[in-house]
Parts: sequence; C-alpha cells; structure tokens
Amino acid sequence: MSTSSHPVDPSKAIEHTQLLIDGEFVDALDGKTFETLNPATGAVITQVAEGGAADIDRAVQAARRAYDHGPWPRMKPDERAAAIWRLGDLLLADAEEIGRLETLDQGKPYSQAVGGYVPAAAALFHYMSGFATKLEGSTIPISAPGRYHTYTQREALGVVGLIVPWNFPLNIAAWKLAPALAAGNTVVIKPAEATPLSTLRLGQLCLEAGIPPGVVNVVAGYGSTAGQRLAEHPLVDKVSFTGSTATGRRILEAAKGNLKRVTLELGGKSANIIFADADIEAAIAGSTDGIFNNAGQACAAGSRLYVHDDVYDEVVAGMAEKARQIKVGDGFEPDTEIGPLVSLEHFDRVSGYLDIGRGEGEVVTGGARVGEQGYFIEPTIFAGAAQDSRIVKEEIFGPVVVASRFRDTDEVIAMANDTRYGLSSGVWTRNVSTAHTVASRIQAGNVWVNTYGVFDAAMPFGGVKESGWGREMGHEVMNDYTDVKTVCVNIDG
Ligand code: NAD
Repeated sequence: MSTSSHPVDPSKAIEHTQLLIDGEFVDALDGKTFETLNPATGAVITQVAEGGAADIDRAVQAARRAYDHGPWPRMKPDERAAAIWRLGDLLLADAEEIGRLETLDQGKPYSQAVGGYVPAAAALFHYMSGFATKLEGSTIPISAPGRYHTYTQREALGVVGLIVPWNFPLNIAAWKLAPALAAGNTVVIKPAEATPLSTLRLGQLCLEAGIPPGVVNVVAGYGSTAGQRLAEHPLVDKVSFTGSTATGRRILEAAKGNLKRVTLELGGKSANIIFADADIEAAIAGSTDGIFNNAGQACAAGSRLYVHDDVYDEVVAGMAEKARQIKVGDGFEPDTEIGPLVSLEHFDRVSGYLDIGRGEGEVVTGGARVGEQGYFIEPTIFAGAAQDSRIVKEEIFGPVVVASRFRDTDEVIAMANDTRYGLSSGVWTRNVSTAHTVASRIQAGNVWVNTYGVFDAAMPFGGVKESGWGREMGHEVMNDYTDVKTVCVNIDG
C-alpha cells in the first residue's frame, strides 16, 4: 500500500501536538505525551501532549474567565457571527492540510476528507454563524392580576465541555462547537485519544478567525482521566458527548454533581427497510453505502437490513456484488473507497463480532481481514441470524450488516423497533403511504426515505431511546446550547 501515487505527503511534520489552553499551545503540566497511530499502517504518526485532570482544570478556568469576563459573550452578535463565518472560510482554505490530518489519524479516504468532510464542517460553521444574530425571545401576554410586560430572552449557558469520538473527529467537533459558539458559550473540547490531530488544528484556526483566547480550548487525553474530569467539573455548565452508550451513562453519572446540562449522542443499530416495490437498484446502491461508508464506523449506519421476501435474494446478491467491488485500502491511495478501522483495539472488537456472526448466521460475503498491516476488514454481509442474536442486537460499529427477511409492514416495524437503540432508519418504497406509515411508526430520531445517510447543517440529528438526548444541527440544536430566561416587569409600578 504505497502512498507515492498521491500528491499529498503524509509524512510532513505535524504542527499542533500540544494542548490549546487560553490561546497558547502548551505541554501537559506533568509533561506526559501519548502516541497517535496511523490505522492504515499501525505506525506512530507523532507524540501528542496528554492532558490530564489538572490540564482540564486549567482549560476550564480559562474558559470560565473568557465567559465571565471576556469579550466573547458580550460581543455584538454580528461580530460573533462574522468570526464563526471566518472559521468556516479558514477551514475551506485549509482543507488539504486538515484533511490530511484526518486521513492520517482516522483513516478515512483523503479525497472524501478534503472533498466532503471538511467542506461539510465548514458549511456547519457558516450555517450556525447566523444564529448568533437570531437568538430571539418572545413577549408573553399573562393573566396574573396587575399589568405586566413579560418576555423571554435566550442566553448562553456558560462553559461547555465537548467530548468527541474518533469516527468523524472534525465533523462531530464542528457539530458541537459551532452552535456552542453562536450562542456565546466558551468551550473545552476533549477529542478522542485515537484522533486528536484535526481538532488541535481546528483550535489554531479558531484563533486565526479572531475568536478570543480562552473561548476555545482543546485538551487531548484519555476518556477515563481528561474526559471524566471535564464531565464532572463543577465549573462546567454543560457537557455534550458523542460516543458509546456505556460511556454516555458514565458521563451522566459524572455530570450529576452540579446538575450540568447534558447532550448525549450515543450508539445505534439502525434498521434499513427495503420493500418489494422499491427502486431496487437505488436501494442496493444506497443501502451498501449506508452501511459501509467510513468502514461502518458511523452511529447512523444501516446495520440491520430488512428486505421483503419477494426481493430478498435479489437485494442481498446485489449488495454482496457491490460489497466485493469496494476498494478497501490506505486512505491516501486515490482509488480507496473505505479505509481501515480506527485502532487495533477496535479492529479486535469488530473481528470478535465476525467470529460471533459465523456462529449465529451465514456469511454472504466478506468476514475476513484485508492485508497484513493496518486494521482493514472486508465489507461483510451476514444473513439468516435470529432476531435475538448478538449480531442483530449489538452495535458492531464496523463494515458489517445483517440481512433479514420480512413479509408485511406490521412485522417489519415490530422487528425494526425491537432494539434498545433509536438513532436512524431507512425506508425504500415507491408507495407514499408505506413511506409515511413507516416514518411515523418507527422509533428513531431520523428516517431516510429512498436514500440513506444524508446529513446537512440544517437537519436536526439525534436519537431516541438509548441512542441519546438532544439534537445536533438544525435550529433545534440551539435549544441545547442556551437557556430561556423569563422576565416579568410590573408596568404599574
Ligand atoms: P467512547 O464512548 O469510548 O469515547 C467517546 C469519547 O468519550 C472519547 O473522546 C473518549 O475519550 C471519551 N470518554 C471515554 N470514557 C470517558 C469517560 N469515562 N468520561 C468522559 N469521557 C470519556 O466511544 P468511541 O469508542 O470513541 O466511539 C464509538 C461509539 O460511539 C460507538 O458506540 C458509536 O455508536 C458511538 N457514536 C455515536 C454517535 C452519535 O452521533 N450518536 C456518533 C459517533 C459515535
């Protein structure tokens, strides 16, 4: 897997490997560092400062000062909007470099990082910048005795902790950072230990955009130390977390000390349903992409495939054919469509599920490692597993889909809802009534009809049931980064 065929130089030195605290890149207080690895090769990319509890304390204090005394929350809304917009522009201008860091650290194809994910993050900052000038309240006619002028105003929360996973490091950081900033909050971001590099660079771009020192702090480090401290910190007013449901519970536990607000974007085991009247070719293509994109490391991945009996064989054979054609490889190879899993630990976890799946169902395609270095796994389709089997119930978070048959709408809705998760779902049909019936009865935060995995800055995203609390993106997200104050003025007095 040579990288010589691509103009980008993956070995170029990394500029930002220290913690960003109060506008300065600094070492951890105890001088500790940790290695970040390239999942395509297993090689060390660089050492990164390892923030611990004391570094989180420093960063929170910086964010606290910036919120309590600094210019950011007091700035004219249009000035705040302009800085956030500039950050979007800077991301676009920096797409090749920040995209390189994302591919190196996370493994996703460089062409997708530069051409898709970085522009999507930029679009998010551009979209969210507009809310700085639109955080309006309302006037309320009340019936209490007397004469009153009663109104609400929307206010920032204060210091917000953003805990980010490794599957879309830049984009999920942007989902949280952009609305937090638009509302006038200050933040401490804790990127995942596997993928700190793009977030550290994003921190640098925040400074270049004119966002004052201390408003955005980035502390790389481990979840059990830095993440835990951020979630429990008494001076943090809110924590927004994306990651596993198990860690989400720990965040809730940690947050209870000062009853900080909590947003949780957690796991999923999303049902993707193909009816017999669907455009089968489109359903095959969209469902294949809907599970294998990002090597299946997507909380919204369509990992449970339900296909009507009449078209089951055709769909499964079609998806298997497409899966076999997917080019799996180093993200710096120009023809790579999906990259490696993010780490050896995660590779072992997904490999474990491949073993479990062989005992619970049949392998239609895939099921093995690709190559001997790096953490690559073949796009895999299982079939014939019972609905209570582990591969149907548990989130695998890899390029693995489980296909099941159904005969009617009630049956498939019951199967789709038979899960503790409720993040996303897909429905493929030409029948408008079927589409709307499933969309209304499925227990999920998002439903895609005749498509899968469309994301947009203007579309709210998030889960129900154990997939979490709150929403990212769209105007809905602003509720999660602000509070409402009610002011009641006696106008007789
Ligand atoms: P994870 O929960 O282990 O880690 C996520 C983040 O939380 C990392 O930054 C980690 O360092 C931090 N963390 C870990 N333990 C912590 C603790 N005790 N206190 C505070 N922070 C802690 O998850 P992961 O392995 O990085 O990501 C994969 C999981 O995340 C999958 O299960 C996936 O479904 C889920 N995920 C969900 C969404 C979504 O939008 N719902 C998006 C991406 C990933």
